[in-house]
Amino acid sequence: TKWVYTFGDGKAEGAADMRELLGGKGANLAEMSSLGLPVPPGFTITTEVCTWYYANGQAFPEDLADQVAAALQHIGGIVGRQFGDAGDPLLVSVRSGARASMPGMMDTVLNLGLNDETVEAVATRAGDRRFAYDSYRRFIQMYSDVVLGVDHHNFEDILEVYKEGNGHDLDTDLSADDWQEIVTRFKALVEEQTGNPFPQSPELQLWGAIGAVFSSWMNQRAITYRRLHSIPESWGTAVNIQAMVFGNMGERSATGVAFTRNPSTGENELYGEFLVNAQGEDVVAGIRTPQDLTEKARIGSGSDKPSLESVMPNAFSEFVGICDVLEKHYRDMQDVEFTVEQDKLWMLQTRAGKRTAKAALRIAVELAEEGLLTKEEAVQRVDPVSLDQLLHPTIDPKAERQAIARGLPASPGAAQGEIVFDADEAEALKNEGRAVILVRVETSPEDIHGMHAAEGILTTRGGMTSHAAVVARGMGKPCVSGAGTLRVDYAAGTMTVGGTTLKRGDVITIDGTKGEVLLGKVAMLQPELSGEFASLMAWADAARRMKVRTNAETPADARTAREFGAEGIGLCRTEHMFFEEGRIIAVREMILADDEAGRRAALAKILPMQRQDFADLFEIMAGLPVTIRLLDPPLHEFLPHEDAELAEVAGTMGADIEKLRRRVQELHEFNPMLGHRGCRLGITYPEIYEMQARAIFEAAAEAATKTGSPVTPEVMIPLIATRAELDMLKDRIVAVAEAVNREKGVAVEYQIGTMIELPRAALHAAEIAETAEFFSFGTNDLTQTTFGISRDDSARFLAEYVEKGILPADPFVTLDQDGVGELVRIAADRGRSTRAGIKLGICGEHGGDPASIGFCETVGLDYVSCSPYRVPIARLAAAQAAL
Ligand code: ADP
Ligand code: MG
Ligand code: MG
Repeated sequence: TKWVYTFGDGKAEGAADMRELLGGKGANLAEMSSLGLPVPPGFTITTEVCTWYYANGQAFPEDLADQVAAALQHIGGIVGRQFGDAGDPLLVSVRSGARASMPGMMDTVLNLGLNDETVEAVATRAGDRRFAYDSYRRFIQMYSDVVLGVDHHNFEDILEVYKEGNGHDLDTDLSADDWQEIVTRFKALVEEQTGNPFPQSPELQLWGAIGAVFSSWMNQRAITYRRLHSIPESWGTAVNIQAMVFGNMGERSATGVAFTRNPSTGENELYGEFLVNAQGEDVVAGIRTPQDLTEKARIGSGSDKPSLESVMPNAFSEFVGICDVLEKHYRDMQDVEFTVEQDKLWMLQTRAGKRTAKAALRIAVELAEEGLLTKEEAVQRVDPVSLDQLLHPTIDPKAERQAIARGLPASPGAAQGEIVFDADEAEALKNEGRAVILVRVETSPEDIHGMHAAEGILTTRGGMTSHAAVVARGMGKPCVSGAGTLRVDYAAGTMTVGGTTLKRGDVITIDGTKGEVLLGKVAMLQPELSGEFASLMAWADAARRMKVRTNAETPADARTAREFGAEGIGLCRTEHMFFEEGRIIAVREMILADDEAGRRAALAKILPMQRQDFADLFEIMAGLPVTIRLLDPPLHEFLPHEDAELAEVAGTMGADIEKLRRRVQELHEFNPMLGHRGCRLGITYPEIYEMQARAIFEAAAEAATKTGSPVTPEVMIPLIATRAELDMLKDRIVAVAEAVNREKGVAVEYQIGTMIELPRAALHAAEIAETAEFFSFGTNDLTQTTFGISRDDSARFLAEYVEKGILPADPFVTLDQDGVGELVRIAADRGRSTRAGIKLGICGEHGGDPASIGFCETVGLDYVSCSPYRVPIARLAAAQAAL
């Protein structure tokens, strides 16, 4: 077996596409070498050796030693000195390198091959004893730390004590003799701690380091990191052994790191740092303040230390050229490491650079504009979820922040304002022009107006799918949910955490992206839906097949969604309109009525208000389809439950409190999710659905006249289990439509369809589609009813399911493709079998989740529908799914 792949001198046995075998670092070193870039020669021991090592009781394959020896000779031939040669030794670095970059693995060992003898040879050859002993002390410290397990602090302490004792401030103040003395003390420490002298044989040093890299694959830090990032253990790590080049060889030498573009803004400018006369990780270790690469950056940072551009202009301009070559070759922004040895530039690493969402967007668009990527490729480069960060205000990263509590990042973005504990008060203060944060233990549908009025929402209880979280995401309001260390005292108007008590009116900032509660008013940045955002979205729109609609019932949400590119409404939840001021009383009268006549009288009061709601929506959505779901929740949700509230409501309604209390008791259900709701309400009280249908058709006629571009209302009946339910309700609705068309002398086009949210409906989709003109998959309820898990109660155990690997993800966040998805697939197929081309959409929370959107594409749905702020995410995800 070939265990070893060499690179160097303009050639390589490996290549960038061999990262599985060579790890990311090794594959890219090989690639850079083949490109003819200045890479110190070296070789990579493959990940297969790592696998072999663990499969064979931590031993090496027999023929590995010979292959390593040959590869060392090969390097030696290129640089003109041999490993272990006492007169002119080759020194190497030993570097770990898994397929994915992985902190937690063994640190790099530099200058390997030095011992008491070779250090003198190096000093003579370089004509620089200081350099030789500086390298040796570095080597002893690194090697002892990562291979022999002597903590590096011990070495740092020795150095500190020495510097203090001899009146030195900086490492650079130390002379050759100083370093030689340090080396003596370091070696004594190693012997004292390990019981053995520091290993002198370069051969032993090398195998010690190789073994340490492979062993570090199974250390606790690496295991934890792999678990957090779902990296399989089977991948293994590679080991890279490479001829040393020295950034610590005096004032004409340096080491540095760079990004080929700015990783936080995406601007096309070299971005990085370097240090003169330094080695390895000195730049990141913060031993001295690093210097800027370019003059422009130096002037920008106001640094008085010269830039690389000015001190080493030749190496700098070669470096700029190489960055350009790398970007063009990899067609992406690169994160590179380099060293200058006596004015000669060497490249030590390249990889795709990590970047913020903002930078990812700008870089993808600019690379496409530069012709390095096609538009489709650019569309695939941006993570749809990350767009969320760009659509909301964020906390200024430069601002000082004092977190007083932590919760879940339930809805992204930052918001600030005065603390209020009550929805009505939130609304009142908002009307006075004040900014408020609504703080609740948890929220319920009765708090919606307060949530609308608030800048952001903070709850102390509830998960990522709690009422507060779902509604806040829908509204695009920042929300931190489940901040469990906060104690809210409604009566006192305070919230307490640790020793701090905040009162109503105190100002806080919440960071819904991180899930933090911050004290006071922290500086924020406003979102910029800049040119790049618009460009990428246009390219995404050109690439996608599925339409993207929004879930919206308020004019504000509908408008926001249209601005974000929604192509209609996929779910208008009419019950939200019932809570609005002015109509909740009529709704309650309707519920309390003794008979149909009484209900109709109350419904007649609601009709004009509901008609106006729809007219507003239809105007905003002119020319587009609008799906309206008829009343869905159980009626008790509209009634008060506590004594004080009961009395208040009875008072304003002029109703008898006892009667009200009785009705509340009658409506009580043990399991409302599976109770008297959805179409079951329409079956029992057809007059409710008739009123809603009338409001819809009259509004459609009215809006069509006004805008000249009619919407197509799609009347959607929830929670159908059997075709008979739908048949009965459809007849009633058709009758209303015909009546309205007759009365108004118009011909409003409409469709009547159903949600598929019960397994029985999915299975019987063929016959249901004979009646239904469209299906919309209500995957929130379909997930509840398929799993038999109530969403509101799932928080207590689902997280553990995911942690223990029983479920791959929370099925209320990412569609369970195997189970719930199977029902979607069955329903789509069976629906199409009796009604060819039946319109199919999805309107659950999953409609805004990229993985679920990918699934919708494979099933061939016509559209996805999601909350307004997720519309851009869905547009991009739908495009990626289609490409
Ligand atoms: P990491 O994966 O932690 O970045 P590396 O293997 O890249 O570790 O090594 C860290 C640093 O060590 C490099 O950035 C480089 O500065 C230095 N280094 C590694 N190999 C060599 C070498 N052959 N010559 C000079 N410096 C090296
Ligand atoms: Mg590195
Ligand atoms: Mg539902």
